[in-house]
Amino acid sequence: AAAAPAKFATAEQALHTVFGYDSFRGEQAEIIAQLAAGGDAVVLMPTGGGKSLCYQIPSLLREGTGVVVSPLIALMQDQVDALTAVGVRAAYLNSTQDAADRASVERAYLAGELDLLYVAPERLGTEQAKQLLARGRIALFAIDEAHCVSQWGHDFRPDYLALGELAERWPEVPRVALTATATEATHREITSRLQLERAAHFVSSFDRPNIQYRIVSKNEVRSQLLDFIRTEHAGDAGIVYALSRATTEKTAAFLQTNGLNALPYHAGLDAATRARTQSRFLREEGVIVVATIAFGMGIDKPDVRFVAHIDLPKSVEGYYQETGRAGRDGEPSTAWLAYGLQDVVQQRRMIEASAGSAQASDSENIAHRRRLAQHLDAMLALCETVQCRRVNLLSYFGQASTPCGNCDTCLTPPAAWDGTVPAQKLLSTVVRLLRERGQRFGAGQIVDILRGKETPRTRQHGHEKLATWGIGADLSDQLWRGVVRQLLAQGLLATTGEYGTLALTDASTEVLSGSRTVSLRTEPERPVGRSARSAK
Ligand code: ADP
Ligand code: ZN
Repeated sequence: AAAAPAKFATAEQALHTVFGYDSFRGEQAEIIAQLAAGGDAVVLMPTGGGKSLCYQIPSLLREGTGVVVSPLIALMQDQVDALTAVGVRAAYLNSTQDAADRASVERAYLAGELDLLYVAPERLGTEQAKQLLARGRIALFAIDEAHCVSQWGHDFRPDYLALGELAERWPEVPRVALTATATEATHREITSRLQLERAAHFVSSFDRPNIQYRIVSKNEVRSQLLDFIRTEHAGDAGIVYALSRATTEKTAAFLQTNGLNALPYHAGLDAATRARTQSRFLREEGVIVVATIAFGMGIDKPDVRFVAHIDLPKSVEGYYQETGRAGRDGEPSTAWLAYGLQDVVQQRRMIEASAGSAQASDSENIAHRRRLAQHLDAMLALCETVQCRRVNLLSYFGQASTPCGNCDTCLTPPAAWDGTVPAQKLLSTVVRLLRERGQRFGAGQIVDILRGKETPRTRQHGHEKLATWGIGADLSDQLWRGVVRQLLAQGLLATTGEYGTLALTDASTEVLSGSRTVSLRTEPERPVGRSARSAK
């Protein structure tokens, strides 16, 4: 078969002529050289680091077509459009095409008329696709979002597992795996599952020094958010992440009512509305998109000034990837997260209820739940840390660092207080309810008992007769909720069942017996950050 002619003598030439950039960033030049010379590579680079050029340019330098595996079908069209606009011959093969479109892409590939071909992983897994590729000339394989191969990661796609076969079928074709979300464990798994043992590894720093990380405790989340945006990011473009579609709608409406240019975005909206929202976000100034995680993947907007989370993300990887969409231009930006007791209860409950897949065995499903719980625990540790947020984040990605001086815990170091006695009061209330009454309750009722707050529900159950009734009247409702949340986060308390009632853990018995003390972080009275400091 004919091959696409190599059009550029050097990587620099392609960088200037095709993409219009002056110089390479970070390790781009080294990665491109490795691939252009026929070697394999594993590239760990944060979002916005410039991964695409790392395989696009070698595809232009080498003979044949660069085959790019990308899980995001929705983005293939955008990527192909962007490349076509700068004169690169690019196309894609995925399930959204009709037979005629597919046939014409296949013809172009076989005729050697494509520099880049994007393929969905499920398609590349088929024998038909492999036979097609075998009849043409492949410049390289690029496996984007390579963390999807990791069963322990947060974004596993079974179709990725089959990509290891590429090494056997095309041993002479260079392969590059790229990801923005890699812990050491994921890095190892990418290397072994994709058979990249002989690859060169390029691990960029994951630090994003221009992003200020802040985590506040949630009480009136919508007005907290509004206050944050008004005082620090008036007129700025930003993304607000929430877990449910309903929350994105309600929050966007609330922000609109308060004069902000906010739009909801989630998978339940029709394609035309989603496309319109996305293009307004890209083109207009100061648009705020309130979205589920469906928004932002591959969206390249350099001046997103803030990313706010109003629900607790499910993993540090996901959180890091989402916050990474702020400040790609290197200017100061904020990652702001509000989380509360209800987040912890809800997510623990969801994990417990998650059935896993019907095809998987019981032990696989147990392992799946354990993995979700580990992801959540790491996220909670980040939220509850009294140390630098950035140090905590980077160490999660295997990178040592020193306190940044720019996150909330660095700027306003949280004090710790001895919470052993309140913890004992709370735990013994949980124990007594179960032992004396055979009852389990959620946090609300337990806090009411501790504070001796009469309600129809406490009266109905005669809870004022409990020995622990009112023994925690010295602490406010909000403080108690903070105690419950932190005990849950530290594994000193658990939730059970569909209603998220509270229960003890092995570690809580140590607290009750007095053999273990409990250190809690002091919750600031007002939100930290510029808004708090500028407040009268
Ligand atoms: P990633 O895939 O790592 O998130 P992208 O490949 O989308 O990052 O690149 C992020 C942005 O940086 C894009 O706008 C891209 O055009 C730009 N970019 C990449 N490399 C360079 C460079 N060497 N010089 C200037 N801009 C670059
Ligand atoms: Zn810090």
